[in-house]
Amino acid sequence: MMGGHHAISGTAAWMALAGSVQVLGHPIGLGLWDLDSGQVISGAVVATGAALLPDVDHPSATISRSAGGFTKAIARTVSSFAGHRGATHTLLAVAVFTGLAMLVNTVDWALRLPVLGEVQTGAALLVGAMCAFGTRTLKMVDGLLLPWIVGIVAALMIAVIAPDPAFWLPAAVAVGCVTHLVGDLLTTDGIPFPTWPLVAKPPKGLASDVWQRSGDVALPILGDAGSKREWLLCTVLTAYAAITMLTSLFASPNALLAISTSS
Ligand SMILES: [Zn+2]
Repeated sequence: MMGGHHAISGTAAWMALAGSVQVLGHPIGLGLWDLDSGQVISGAVVATGAALLPDVDHPSATISRSAGGFTKAIARTVSSFAGHRGATHTLLAVAVFTGLAMLVNTVDWALRLPVLGEVQTGAALLVGAMCAFGTRTLKMVDGLLLPWIVGIVAALMIAVIAPDPAFWLPAAVAVGCVTHLVGDLLTTDGIPFPTWPLVAKPPKGLASDVWQRSGDVALPILGDAGSKREWLLCTVLTAYAAITMLTSLFASPNALLAISTSS
C-alpha cells in the first residue's frame, strides 16, 4: 500500500474505533473507549502518522525522508537489518512501537508555557512527529521544515484540547501501526507470518498467494500496491475520515477554541 493510503487508513481506522459523535442521527464510530471529542481528534492525528511507522524499513518512503539525513540513516540501518516488509511489519513491532509511545508518554518533563500552561514535552514531541509524518505524506504541506512547524503547532494545540494522553496516545500509535499491517496484508506481497519471529512455512505443494513459500501471509483483495482497487478504497476512507474528523471537531468546543486562539 502507498504511503498516503496508509496514512488516511490510519485516520479512518481510529475514527471508526474511537469516534462517538453522530452524523444525521447515526453514530460515526464504535466509540470503544471513553474519550471526549478533543481526545478523539488528537488520537486521529497521531494514528495518521503512526500508520507510517512500519515503513521506516524503506529508505525512500516519505517517513524515512521526513527529517533529512537523520531519518534516512535510521531507515537505511533498519532496512539493512530487517529488509522491507520484514521485522517492522509484525505484531511484535506494533508492541515495540506502542511500548515506546508509552515510555515517551511517561517522561515527566513538563514545560510551563504562557497561555497554554503546563505541557508534557515527551508527549508533545511524539504528537508533533506523528503530525509531521502524516501531513507531509498526505501532501497537506510540503518541504522539509514546514511539516515540523505544523507538527509543533498541532502538538501545542493538542496539549490544550487533550492534556491527559496516558491512554489515547499509545492507543492511537497501536491502531495506526496495526492499520498499516492490515493495509499491506491486503496486497499481493503480504506481511510476515503473524507470530514472527516464529515463522511457519507451508508444507511442500501448499504454498499459495495467501500462505506464501517464505511464510508471509496475504489476503490480496487489493492486488499489487497502488492498484485501482487500493485507490478506490482509500477514496472512500478519505471521505469517511474527513466527515468524521470535521463532525468531531465541531463537537469539541475546546478544539475550536484552541484553533481560534492560535490563529
Ligand atoms: Zn508497509
